[in-house]
Amino acid sequence: MKRRELFKLAAAAALTSATANAAEKKKSKESKSSFNFALLPKNGKGKRVVIIGGGWAGLSVAKRLKEYSPNSDVVLIEQRAHFVSCPISNLWLVDAVDLEFLTHSYLDAARNNGYTFFQAAAYNIDRKNKVVLTTNGDVKYDYLVVATGIDYDYSQWTKGDIELEYELRTNYPPGFMTHSEHQVIKEKLEDFEEGNFILTVPGGNYRCLPAPYERACVIADYFKKNKIKGKVILLDENPDITIKKKGFHSAFNELYKDYIQYVPSAKIEKFDLKNKKVETEIGDVYEFADAAFYPRVRGSKLLEIAGIAKDGINKKEANIDPFTYQVKDDPNIFCCGDVRPMAFSKSGNTANSEGYVVARIIANLIEGKKPTWKSPHTTCYSAVSTDPIRAISVDADYKWDKTNKVFTFANVKLNEKWQGKMGLHTGKGLLEWAKGMYRDMFD
Ligand SMILES: Cc1cc2nc3c(=O)[nH]c(=O)nc-3n(C[C@H](O)[C@H](O)[C@H](O)COP(=O)(O)OP(=O)(O)OC[C@H]3O[C@@H](n4cnc5c(N)ncnc54)[C@H](O)[C@@H]3O)c2cc1C
Repeated sequence: MKRRELFKLAAAAALTSATANAAEKKKSKESKSSFNFALLPKNGKGKRVVIIGGGWAGLSVAKRLKEYSPNSDVVLIEQRAHFVSCPISNLWLVDAVDLEFLTHSYLDAARNNGYTFFQAAAYNIDRKNKVVLTTNGDVKYDYLVVATGIDYDYSQWTKGDIELEYELRTNYPPGFMTHSEHQVIKEKLEDFEEGNFILTVPGGNYRCLPAPYERACVIADYFKKNKIKGKVILLDENPDITIKKKGFHSAFNELYKDYIQYVPSAKIEKFDLKNKKVETEIGDVYEFADAAFYPRVRGSKLLEIAGIAKDGINKKEANIDPFTYQVKDDPNIFCCGDVRPMAFSKSGNTANSEGYVVARIIANLIEGKKPTWKSPHTTCYSAVSTDPIRAISVDADYKWDKTNKVFTFANVKLNEKWQGKMGLHTGKGLLEWAKGMYRDMFD
């Protein structure tokens, strides 16, 4: 090749590369400006802290952050228009409390506590540019808290059969996430004439350990009171009741002998929904008139989409430092509540107390101080009857077991006596606990 031709080629290559660089720069500029930011007022001159998920954890972080770090600009993103409580919803199924008791306004919570409520669903997080992408516009953050709760994991039952999963989700909803599911279960009870009503208890660290046993009690109580020829068949994947064992066993035996059949180590292997039958791993077949099937749980899908999930006991829980709640490769993002991988109880009280801990950690970081760990706290009441309401309870903290590198229960106080005055007293305590929690998050 002649020198002149070589020179031409080199010039062309340089031009191509310059054009490519310019295009790259333009693209990156465009991608930055392609955000469609939501128009949100500032409620503080300091750092913007965005929280995704207005459940028990998210509401608590938002409120406490404005208290510990008043200059922060706090935004709570929640997809639902109303807060409808899961705790106490078992009592609502059988009309022992009304819907007003469970329902609270996000606008009240935000107004009363000086933060911004933004109703939208977050569909991804642009971690490089620190922007939450939502259905109603994008939101920039300095610190981000992901408190999006659980999703169901049907894979053990359905092994990829999407039709079966959809049928289970819609016709036999578990009633452990949304109020629509609770509504379906309530309608099932109202229409129930006779036969078996199957409930299941999943394995792993599922949401609210005592709630399936509580639900068995209140449904049996409803059948008994209304003289319905029904029986609750409680198929438990675990070898025994997972919490408040003595209290629930005695309620099953003394109050609901003819109304509850408790079956431990009963993992469903096959569903025959057309003929309303299920078969367990050991080949036992149970027929049912109706059911609510509660599968295993996992962390909410957003964690996986945003690349901040890891596989744990429950699939796709948050990949965080268990003491600071910071995502391992992204310390400006925190995850708390039921998305956490730590073996704490997946309960509202635990999520609420964690809200205080995480708000304190973020406030410390904003002030340039070190994050400090504090144990979350679990208080959990369970009703065993509704008229009058009698209940049992557990109270616990957590401590770090250095040898096995796991958290275990500490300072456990169990009250499993639902009989006599103590049971009635705890029944009142249950409703007072819930009112106190709602005040703590909304007032
Ligand atoms: C029947 C039942 C009974 C229970 N009883 C008790 C009890 O007696 N005591 C107790 O302490 N606990 C109880 N619990 C457990 C308690 O409800 C949960 O542990 C608690 O709700 C967990 O709080 P969280 O904030 O982690 O998740 P959630 O409360 O589920 O909040 C998550 C929020 O995030 C929102 N969200 C999710 N994804 C997105 C997204 N992409 N964009 C925007 N928003 C999003 C959801 O809409 C939701 O509001 C019970 C649960 C059930 C189902």
